[in-house]
Amino acid sequence: MSETDKFIAMVSAKADVDLRLSDFQPRSMLVTPAHHVPRAKFAAIDYHNHLDAHDPADVLRIMDECGIERIVNITMKVGDEALAVMRRFHTFAPERFSTIAWMDWSGLQEPDFFERTVERFRRFVEAGACGLKIWKDLGLQVRDANGELLRIDDVRLAPLFEEAAKLGVPIMFHIADPDAFFLPIDRFNERYEELAAHPDWGFHGSQYSKDDLLAQRDRVFARHPHTTFVAAHMAEKPENLAYLDNLLSTCPNVFVDMSARTAELGRQPYTSRDFFLRHAGRILFGTDLVPEIEMYRLNFRFLETSDEYFEYPSHASRQGRWNIYGLHLPDDVLRKIYRENALRLFNLDQKPGIPR
Ligand SMILES: [Zn+2]
Repeated sequence: MSETDKFIAMVSAKADVDLRLSDFQPRSMLVTPAHHVPRAKFAAIDYHNHLDAHDPADVLRIMDECGIERIVNITMKVGDEALAVMRRFHTFAPERFSTIAWMDWSGLQEPDFFERTVERFRRFVEAGACGLKIWKDLGLQVRDANGELLRIDDVRLAPLFEEAAKLGVPIMFHIADPDAFFLPIDRFNERYEELAAHPDWGFHGSQYSKDDLLAQRDRVFARHPHTTFVAAHMAEKPENLAYLDNLLSTCPNVFVDMSARTAELGRQPYTSRDFFLRHAGRILFGTDLVPEIEMYRLNFRFLETSDEYFEYPSHASRQGRWNIYGLHLPDDVLRKIYRENALRLFNLDQKPGIPR
């Protein structure tokens, strides 16, 4: 055996050629500036979180530590249970917690459901809710008395959207999910590991395609110009900011929240930064992640610094095998995204339409 062959044999013996994808945990060798951002540069409102299972005192400690002025708890409970959660947070610290109600589909089979829904909504707003969230079960799961999937643009829901305009609170939509969730869970899927761990998150083969679902939703935005809508998770289209640019340009009544989409935004920093500058008045800071100090700090690092190639905030399950880049947003943009845009939504004040 030649010296070269011996060297090759020695090196190959050291390499684990059968490493499983799930065991592959590469560590970046890059050395670039890394900034620690302990607190948001300006008081921040987390417009998208779920706190039902949390103790307000624990959450408040984390908020104080990170400079979070207020969290909007999107309760996932309905009826009296939801009212109780709302009371628990609002009584504890009314200046620090707000609540968005959750769409209650119970009784959908009954003929007066759509009228009752409007009444339920009114009751929640009177009790202090600052909006209503409609989740992706609409369009993917919820069936009417005829056994048909209820469409997002079903005209029977129109009075609900009109009521939101009258009450001066927004409707939040989380319709559909990432593009990859509507594709086969195979080797070409960029969210393969996540979907392999949670196959029930995949919607490949659903009755309505993702494009259908978003088209139904966007039709609702256009039909109700006096109603303010918050399209959660970058309107479910952070993969295509040109689409989103068009949506925001054509629908002045729509805001987006950036929650749980840092991974998408941070892997296209040039496009994202342009988008954030262009639509600074329409983007809401939100996280949709368990309130933890390091989670918030990663979000601040993403928005405020020009750090490169670092981990995005996430739960245990990672969204994709990539890292993110900071957007280094200017102060006036940060102020709007962190706080001012959310304040506008808290004060719609029954005026039709929204200031631009
Ligand atoms: Zn959420």
